[in-house]
Amino acid sequence: MGRCLHLGRNGKFERVHAGAGNGFEAAEPLAQPAGACEDVDYTDGAAFAFTCCGQDLDSDDMVDVMSADKRSALMSRIRGKDTGPELRVRKQLWRAGFRYRLHDKELPGKPDLVLPKWKTVVFVHGCFWHCHAGCPYFRLPKTRPDFWDEKLRRNQERDETAISALIDVGWRVAVVWECAVRSDPDAVGRKLAAWAGRGKGNIQIEGLDQKVRSRQLPLPRI
Ligand SMILES: [Zn+2]
Repeated sequence: MGRCLHLGRNGKFERVHAGAGNGFEAAEPLAQPAGACEDVDYTDGAAFAFTCCGQDLDSDDMVDVMSADKRSALMSRIRGKDTGPELRVRKQLWRAGFRYRLHDKELPGKPDLVLPKWKTVVFVHGCFWHCHAGCPYFRLPKTRPDFWDEKLRRNQERDETAISALIDVGWRVAVVWECAVRSDPDAVGRKLAAWAGRGKGNIQIEGLDQKVRSRQLPLPRI
């Protein structure tokens, strides 16, 4: 029997079966796995995590289960699935007249959206992977707490470094939390559009208690 990978992105999950010789076979849709927030990062296709036959895997571990080519083909397939809540957020911005680039690799932190004309970037952050304090989607897994603690701390530092670098050179930054996108993507899009056009400072948009709210983004500590 081959191994299987549980993948997720944009709230959709699938199980991919690996056959002999690391060939990946048909993917089947997967109901959201229990503890998906712990296992699956569906906000950043480049650093997703998943379970493989019940074990935690790091992206480095993927090398063990599939070749670089296969991995990159699989990743681009996942990235290409631009449907769902994030797309709805973008549609609202587009409708409001904003034009953007996606996943700009040239900028610190590779922002999910870049609105060059407005010198504005948007990060869509998974609540677990980016440590959204006070959010129900953020809870430390019970297994291997030290591993997760260290991993998530590094993610947080990376975010702060990127945001700080962007602000230093005059970009405005919005962080949109996964909980907001899940709760009401259209409202998130409208709030982003209102802020991008007229708003001041840097904001975060969260979706706690079933309500989408925006507030100032705290300045990075570094
Ligand atoms: Zn959250």
